[in-house]
This record gives sequence, structure tokens and C-alpha cells, in this order.
Amino acid sequence: MCSDGGPVDPSPSIDQAINSGYGWLEIRCSRCKTPRAVDLAALPHAATTCVHDLAGRLRCMKCGKVGKRPAAELLQLWQRSPIGDRA
Ligand SMILES: [Zn+2]
Repeated sequence: MCSDGGPVDPSPSIDQAINSGYGWLEIRCSRCKTPRAVDLAALPHAATTCVHDLAGRLRCMKCGKVGKRPAAELLQLWQRSPIGDRA
């Protein structure tokens, strides 16, 4: 799971992604499809956490407000934010 680096599949660890220059993860809510860019370096995480492990941890704030907790869909790793840090 945590072996080779490279965009999302196979899943690198968070530190591997950051160290290879891919510090941003683009995700999308599996329920409302709202896209979001996550700054991996700003996330509290263990060095060995896989990027894939984040899917169950990153919750959509919009859905959270209505009591839903859908998992995030991981789309792609980026070298810079694909959509800015709002959303
Ligand atoms: Zn949502």
C-alpha cells in the first residue's frame, strides 16, 4: 500500500507525496460532489499515513452541516493547488 510514490495509485504515504513535490490532494465529496484541494503539509498526520487513508478522514463540511459524513473521493495529487484553498 505504502510502497512506490506517484500520483494517487498506488498510494504513496503523505510524506512521500510531499517530498516528491506533490503537496496538494484534490478530493471530491462522494455525496454532493463538491471539489476541494487539501494542503497535505498542513494536515496533522503520521509520516506513514497513506494518501488513500485520508479518504475516510476528510469530511465534506457542507454535508457535515446537514448531519452526513460521506467519505471523500480521492482524485489526484498536484504540485500546486488546483482550485485554490477555498471550497
Ligand atoms: Zn458533500
